[in-house]
Amino acid sequence: MRWIVLVVDMIEEFVTGRLGDPRMLEVVSPIRRLLDRAREAGVPVVYVRDCHRMGDPELDIMGDHAMEGSDQCGIVPELEPLAGEPVFEKSVYTAFYGTGLDEYLDGLGADTLILTGQLTEVCIRHTAADAFYRGYRTVVPNDCVQTMTDDIQTRALQEMMALYGTSIVPSSEVTF
Ligand code: ZN
Repeated sequence: MRWIVLVVDMIEEFVTGRLGDPRMLEVVSPIRRLLDRAREAGVPVVYVRDCHRMGDPELDIMGDHAMEGSDQCGIVPELEPLAGEPVFEKSVYTAFYGTGLDEYLDGLGADTLILTGQLTEVCIRHTAADAFYRGYRTVVPNDCVQTMTDDIQTRALQEMMALYGTSIVPSSEVTF
């Protein structure tokens, strides 16, 4: 099995910014611990972040957010990428659309994606769906993803398990 850990949208806008929520702070430390273990084991860490330009369709729905060039696009300091870790920029919910992520993962020979970040039912779920369509296995550590309510969280995790065969486990059970 060739793992990679994907960190999705842990940017200022969605953690401490206009679209942020204190719940998002809860996953910072668990993600950090997972990343530390992955790096120690030589498992690649890959980042994807929202980065919008005027005219992106999503802005009509949610208003301007994570605009290109703004400091709101920055990864939160606790999860800052190490030198050499790639940061892909996306303009829709899935991490795969228009980013080059698939080609990059192919180059690594990755077959299993560990998805962390937020929001669970939006960017994590859409990324899990796209990963499934492309033949990747997905693992979602349930303490490393978050959304606005516990009910939405539970439902999104159940749907990923049912629809894409995603493994839902505590991060402590992810062993590299
Ligand atoms: Zn967006």
